[in-house]
Amino acid sequence: MARVELRHVWKIYNGNVEAVKDTTWKCEDGEFFSILGPSGCGKSSSLRMIAGLEHITRGEILFDGQVINSLPPAERNVAMVFENWALYTNLSVYENIAFPLRVRKMPEDVIDKKVKEAAAFLSLESILHSGVKRLSGGEMQRVSIGRAIVRNPSVLIMDEPISHLDAALRSKMRDELKTQVEKLGVTTLYITHDQVEAMAMADRIAIMNLGEIQQIGTPLEIYYKPRNDFVAGFIGEPPMNFALCEIKKEGGEWNIKSPSFNFVLNEKMKSLFNGYTGNPKLKIGVRPEDVQVSLDPSVNAFPLEVDFVEPQGDRTIISLKLQGSDLFFAEILGNFRPGINQTVYVMFDQRHINFFDPESGINIFFKEKRNVTGD
Ligand code: ADP
Ligand code: MG
Repeated sequence: MARVELRHVWKIYNGNVEAVKDTTWKCEDGEFFSILGPSGCGKSSSLRMIAGLEHITRGEILFDGQVINSLPPAERNVAMVFENWALYTNLSVYENIAFPLRVRKMPEDVIDKKVKEAAAFLSLESILHSGVKRLSGGEMQRVSIGRAIVRNPSVLIMDEPISHLDAALRSKMRDELKTQVEKLGVTTLYITHDQVEAMAMADRIAIMNLGEIQQIGTPLEIYYKPRNDFVAGFIGEPPMNFALCEIKKEGGEWNIKSPSFNFVLNEKMKSLFNGYTGNPKLKIGVRPEDVQVSLDPSVNAFPLEVDFVEPQGDRTIISLKLQGSDLFFAEILGNFRPGINQTVYVMFDQRHINFFDPESGINIFFKEKRNVTGD
């Protein structure tokens, strides 16, 4: 097992495609570390450089403090599991798992011992001598993990291993994968574009966009303390709502104003803003579950019209008409269904609201020290 570290790593293809830009992060020994971001943001390029499948344009990659830039892939002891699991369909489960050991020309008795150990670990003993064509998705996944772990890799890389499955199977696989990887205790770098997967499985998540790391943190840090509006909008379903507003100090109170809403900050938020001298024009971010909706007016609540209503069983998602926002979601109880165009009274749960600089997108209260590298 190994600690993996990237120091100012760049990947530039063909002299001009900047796929990975100045990336710095560290994954601890045995950690389950997820790289999360939209398609094309540089996730696979990052991990292919770690595996040695791609030349590092600039920067350093270290395993346990040793620079491995010039080490050939075979000497890095990194195993990869890909999206399609890439099993050899004409070979048995046993031979698929044995394959990397045969390539290394290990003695037959050692191969047999290691394959059986991996099979026992992954509960594949009863199908060891079956072909792989008719296996279930879960079994194929376990065979592919078996092949990856049979040679005791220092680092296990999984590149969107379950992205192609349908939603129900994906959720089952997510649980199974996490359990297996936890048992192994191997350093795992897990690529996904699916925030639900990363949130459910990872110890820490590195969020990438356009080749750059946006934030590194635990799922909870990333959810509640997003460093910028990209992270805030990428995590959560329905996504965080944004609206432009202006902050004004009047008579000892901090007022948040926009053409559609107007409210006073509570004591806790006030203490954050006391001494604030930055831009008074801000972008507020509120998650749908923090938008409180009532049919009755109250102090600090503002009237808004309902745009659409989407019942989802245990909860109802509504969108509210807000000037300057196409969609502004509220998540309310399933049995509460206001009518379209009805006026409702809205308050924000101030414990979780965030304010972003409208130009840079940076969360104005984000403590840079604690992040981006997660140290
Ligand atoms: P992700 O895994 O996040 O989807 P990739 O790392 O595969 O992203 O790709 C990042 C960017 O680099 C994309 O714009 C992609 O088109 C580009 N890219 C990836 N591989 C190559 C390559 N071999 N040659 C040129 N451009 C590439
Ligand atoms: Mg990829």
